[in-house]
Amino acid sequence: MNTPILNIIDGTPIAPDGSETWQIANPARLDLPSRHYALSSPEQVDLAVAAAHTAQKIWAETSPMLRADLMMKAAALIAERQEELALLITREMGKPLVESRGEVGYAAKILQFYAAEAQRPRGETLSSGRPRVHYYTVREPIGVIGAITPWNFPLSIACWKIGPAIMTGNTVVWKPSPQHPLCSQALMQVFLDAGLPNGVVNMLHGAVDAGSALVAHPGVQGISFTGSSATGEAIYQTTSARLARAQCEMGGKNVLYVHESGDLQTAVTLAIEGAFRSAGQKCTGTSWILLDPAIADPFIEAFLARARALDVGDPELASTFLGPVADVRQFTKVCDYIEAGIEEGLALSCGGLPAAPEMGYFIAPTVFTDVPATSRLAREEIFGPVVAITRVADLTDAIDHINTGTYGLSNTIIATDLGAIQKFSRKVESGVINVNLPTAGVEMHAPFGGWKRSGLGAPEQGLKTLDFYTHWRSVAIQSPI
Ligand code: NAD
Repeated sequence: MNTPILNIIDGTPIAPDGSETWQIANPARLDLPSRHYALSSPEQVDLAVAAAHTAQKIWAETSPMLRADLMMKAAALIAERQEELALLITREMGKPLVESRGEVGYAAKILQFYAAEAQRPRGETLSSGRPRVHYYTVREPIGVIGAITPWNFPLSIACWKIGPAIMTGNTVVWKPSPQHPLCSQALMQVFLDAGLPNGVVNMLHGAVDAGSALVAHPGVQGISFTGSSATGEAIYQTTSARLARAQCEMGGKNVLYVHESGDLQTAVTLAIEGAFRSAGQKCTGTSWILLDPAIADPFIEAFLARARALDVGDPELASTFLGPVADVRQFTKVCDYIEAGIEEGLALSCGGLPAAPEMGYFIAPTVFTDVPATSRLAREEIFGPVVAITRVADLTDAIDHINTGTYGLSNTIIATDLGAIQKFSRKVESGVINVNLPTAGVEMHAPFGGWKRSGLGAPEQGLKTLDFYTHWRSVAIQSPI
C-alpha cells in the first residue's frame, strides 16, 4: 500500500498537486492503515489535454495494424498480470477475488476485440449519380477523448472506453474514480509496457475538480462517462452547451420478473446472482423482483433460504459470495436505504441494518418483501445488497411497473411462455433485455446502453460505440477523364 500515487501525463509519472483530496482503505480490512492522498488540479488537466492533443496528430496517422499490435500486447500483459490486477481490484473496492479475476479477463478480451476490429475497413464504397465519380465514406477520429469511469469495474470499463477510442485514432485523458488509484496505475503500466506512444493514454487521479475541468475543457472533443445518473446528466448539459460530444452510461433500477410459466429454480438462482454478486454494486444488478401470483410464495420461500445462507466475508477467500461494499460512502448510502425501508414499515425478511463496521463495510443480503411499487426501495437505485420484492397481477402489470420507472438499463424475464417472452422483449423500455438470464452480464460485441435516465448518447461496447468515437466523412472524387 506504499506505492506512490502518481498521474501519468505524456508517459511521465507526476504527483497530483490539487487541493481536493481522497481517503482510501481496504474495505474488508479496516484494521489496516488507510491512506489520504491529493488529487489532480485543473492545471494538470490542461497538461494532460495538451499532451493528448499533440500525440493525437501523430497517432491518427499511424497504421491501424500498428495500433492493433500495441493493443494486442496490452491485452496479453493484462492476461499475464491477472492475479496481481485482480488482487488490486479486490483490495481497493472489495469485490470477491473470483469476480475480480473475471473482470481482468474481460478487460483483456475487450482490448483483443477492438484490436481485431482495427484491421477491418471502416467505410463504404457508394454509387454516384454523377459521371466518373468514386464515392466513399470513411470514419475519422474526433480528437481527444475524456474518459471518466466509476469504481465498480476499475479495469473493464476503462478498457471498453480506451480500446475503441485509440483503435480509431483518438487519444485519451482518463480520469478514473479516485477509489482505486493503484488499479488505475497498474493499467497505465500495462499501456506503457505494451509500447503505446507517450500521450496516447494519459491518466489523472481526480474527483470533482479534475472531472469538471476535463468535461469543460475546450480541447476535449468528447466525454465518455460512466457513473451515476446525476453526474452524467450534469456532464451531458455541460458538453451540450459547448457543443462537444458525450456518451453517458448511468444508473439503473433493474427488474427480474418471474412469469407464472418460469422455472422456479432458474428464477431463484439468477435472482441471487443478479442481486448479490459484487454486493449488489453493478449497474445491471437486480434491485427489484416482480412476481406473478402463482409463483410468488414458492419463490419468496426459496429465495430467502438461499439469501440467508450466502457466505459474507473476506473477499479474498474462494468460499465468499459477498464481500464488503466499496467504502464508507457506499456503506452509509446503503444503510440509509435499509433504514428508509424499515421506517416505511416494509417487511424486512432477511438481513437488515448492520452493526457499525469493525473489520470492514459488510452488509448482509437484505430483502424486503411485499414492497409497494411507490416505495423508494422499489424505485431508486440502491447499489448495494438490498432487494425489494413486489407481487404483480400479471405480465402487463409487470411491464407497467417497469416502464413507469425512470431508468431503462437491463431487465429480465424468467418464463417459458413464448408469447410472454416476446411481449416483455417488445414492450419493456430498456437498452438490455434478458430472457432466463440474470440482469447483470454483458458481452463485448453487443451494444450496451441504457434508455431514459440510464443512458445518453451512443451506446458503449460492440461496434455501435464507434458512432461516438468517430466522425463520418463522405468523399466524392470525379475523374477528369
Ligand atoms: P459517480 O457519478 O459518483 O462518479 C463517476 C465518475 O465521475 C467518477 O470518476 C467520479 O470521480 C466522477 N465525477 C464525480 N463528479 C464529477 C463531476 N462533477 N464532473 C466530472 N466527473 C465527476 O458514480 P460512482 O459512485 O463512481 O459509480 C456508481 C454509479 O455508476 C451507479 O449509479 C452505477 O449504476 C453507475 N454505473 C453505470 C454503468 C453503466 O454502464 N450504465 C456501469 C457501472 C456503474
